[in-house]
Amino acid sequence: MSDLDALLSRAKPSPAKAGEHLVSLSQSTRPEMVRAYVIDWFGASGDRDALRLVVDGADRGVLSRASAYALATTGDRDYGSGDYGSVPGTSTGYKTLVLACPHPGCRVNGAALFYDQDHPPRCPIHNEPLSVTAN
Ligand SMILES: [Zn+2]
Repeated sequence: MSDLDALLSRAKPSPAKAGEHLVSLSQSTRPEMVRAYVIDWFGASGDRDALRLVVDGADRGVLSRASAYALATTGDRDYGSGDYGSVPGTSTGYKTLVLACPHPGCRVNGAALFYDQDHPPRCPIHNEPLSVTAN
């Protein structure tokens, strides 16, 4: 099982929630990049408890904080090593695109480690393609 498959196997189907965050990636995205993003994202705020994974445009379910912790302990990267919360600036280990649902009032947002403009990730609530708002 690849690292990416191991990560995906921890994600559980979950109904979409307002304001949730998702990360768009591809089967070809480097697993260490995905792991770094997941750990940094959960590490940035203790309020974050669920991260939806979208792989090649398909919803693969939600990764819980507990699953991310487990993931961190099985790898060579310690939980919290992203240090978004304590160090000024952001990691340059990877570059992400910022995604948002174009539906008025929708608070679903996301980040793309992989983005295919012909098959963009979709809002899990409105099923509208997410727009890139910044990079
Ligand atoms: Zn939406």
